[in-house]
Amino acid sequence: MAGSGRNRKGTVMTCRVKVVCVAAVAALCLSLVGSCAFAGSPEILRDLKPEEIAKIKAALPEKATKEAPQRKMLVFWRCEGFFHTVIPVANEALRLMGEKTGAYTVVTTDDPSVFTIENLKQFDAICFNNSTGLKFSPETTPGICEAIMDFVKVDGKGIVGIHAAADNFGRWEEARKMMGNSFTGHPWGAGGTWAIKIDQPDHPLTAAFKGQSFKVKDEIYRTDAPLYTRENQFVLMSLDMSDPATKNVGGLKPSDDDTGITWIKDWGKGRMFYCSLGHNDEIFYNAAILRHYLDGIQFAFGDYQVDTKPKP
Ligand SMILES: [Zn+2]
Repeated sequence: MAGSGRNRKGTVMTCRVKVVCVAAVAALCLSLVGSCAFAGSPEILRDLKPEEIAKIKAALPEKATKEAPQRKMLVFWRCEGFFHTVIPVANEALRLMGEKTGAYTVVTTDDPSVFTIENLKQFDAICFNNSTGLKFSPETTPGICEAIMDFVKVDGKGIVGIHAAADNFGRWEEARKMMGNSFTGHPWGAGGTWAIKIDQPDHPLTAAFKGQSFKVKDEIYRTDAPLYTRENQFVLMSLDMSDPATKNVGGLKPSDDDTGITWIKDWGKGRMFYCSLGHNDEIFYNAAILRHYLDGIQFAFGDYQVDTKPKP
């Protein structure tokens, strides 16, 4: 939530009464957790401007870290909660990164009918790009739930989660456990600059950062037990609470001292890679973060044999 959003048709309301209404709804929205009045996927995603595409291209890795057969990734961005305006930027960055490196091709959609056992056979990973509020549940959409879990646990494929991928599956406990977090707030807002530390500097999936902690302007989700714990997943990066600006944010609770940024886990025969970074457009103009995502995507494909054992 927070940041910029728009309603389904992108309508601009101009009259004074409507502005007051919108302000009231926005205030109500901010008081809610995990849902927002400015909700839902737009019917058509905007095209990127040439300068935005140029910034993505300038930051793309030259080649994939791991040599492997070209893979295929399903990029799913449906929003039944908050719509992140970064989605078209991230979609294009993912597509261009696969094209340039040759590591993978993408199919991009917000149509949940793609989730059938038969259709998913063509893919090596599913990337949830800032999807929110998905209504999937074993009771109401058993076919979708079975297809996704079968894809990972039985077929040994991968899941990639970008930022709001941790704000889905409110009605599906197993998928929440797989993702390793479920949105409860973001004390670190999109306009702030926050310190990130590399918990596992020698791990191949953090090689993009060369062991160096860094600062980034982005929105950071709170990570909460019991879903997020260091027993449940292997945490590669987290917020650096020794940084005064990151520590001295209003409304923190003791458990915020350990806020995960990137983590991985085995799930059945398959794998899950999640990174919290990806609310602001600039994340996808950042060479190190794009490299980190590419390495995570290759891990999800199964092309990296890396340590995934949690380190409590
Ligand atoms: Zn966000």
